[in-house]
Amino acid sequence: MNEPNALTAPDTGVEKAVLPVADPSAELPTPPRLSAGLWVANLLAVVLPFLALGGVAVFLWGRGFHWLDFWLLLGMYVLTVLGVTVGFHRLFVHRSFETNAVVKFILAVLGSMAVQGSLIHWVALHRRHHQHSDEPGDPHSPHLHGEGILGLVRGLWHAHLGWIFEPDPPDLDRYAQDLRKSTMLRVVSALFLVWVVLGLVIPAVLGGLLTGTWTGVWTGLIWGGLVRVFLVHHVTWSVNSVCHLWGFQPYQSDDQSRNNYLFGVLALGEGWHNTHHAFPTSARHGLRWWQPDVSYWVIRALALVGLAWNVKVPTKEAQKQGERT
Ligand SMILES: [Zn+2]
Ligand SMILES: [Zn+2]
Repeated sequence: MNEPNALTAPDTGVEKAVLPVADPSAELPTPPRLSAGLWVANLLAVVLPFLALGGVAVFLWGRGFHWLDFWLLLGMYVLTVLGVTVGFHRLFVHRSFETNAVVKFILAVLGSMAVQGSLIHWVALHRRHHQHSDEPGDPHSPHLHGEGILGLVRGLWHAHLGWIFEPDPPDLDRYAQDLRKSTMLRVVSALFLVWVVLGLVIPAVLGGLLTGTWTGVWTGLIWGGLVRVFLVHHVTWSVNSVCHLWGFQPYQSDDQSRNNYLFGVLALGEGWHNTHHAFPTSARHGLRWWQPDVSYWVIRALALVGLAWNVKVPTKEAQKQGERT
């Protein structure tokens, strides 16, 4: 089943994605040490939103929480999570549908605003996760960290955010060669920090314009910017950690991936993670009517207006065949 240089799925009825991943049998060189600057940058990206939340608590003392702040938070949350789920994940990693250059650009920028690394880096790491899922070589498995409660806690920490502090695998470049062929995607990826700043400036400007006050700028930045990044981080990281530990496994997959209702909802469909590992090229992760999959609804809506095509979903027979017996 495992062909070299290809990400394969069980016989899903969905066209197998032949993606440019590394030869799994290739010997890996020793990983380089993470530079001090990158280590500090990663630490700040993780810790700053927590500090922001503390700041919010102080700021809110006696002042309340306004509807505009709520809408800026929700709007920026939904847009940037969709950038990751519909864009980075289902379009760029797994090619589960096709679209035009404008939609690609918008999704790549929105996904970058989620502050989870540049497009090409994200895609390469996630392909590596599928190739080595829950085995040595998986960048963020909660398993493989020892036995007992201590092993579980260590694994949970590693899968949730500890892995971010580890140096990139030396062969990472080989996993996203297809994206590097596109000048537009290379440029969007290289401008990652610009999109991060834009993702903070937009809610701040909207907050200022809609209230006509400097306080509005400040609350827009906090709620639509920093608090939103904090929530997006922990919800999407939970797909790596929680969804490889807790939930149901209705389908066969060679790993510990689980379907988790909470993150199915919060991560806009990505929590149906066992289904995703069983049918990785499917644009739809929540295959049952009771499994909400907002990201798939967005892809369906794009298809309805002619902005998405070749949307891949496994046939009923393939779904039946993929069930765990
Ligand atoms: Zn996974
Ligand atoms: Zn995936």
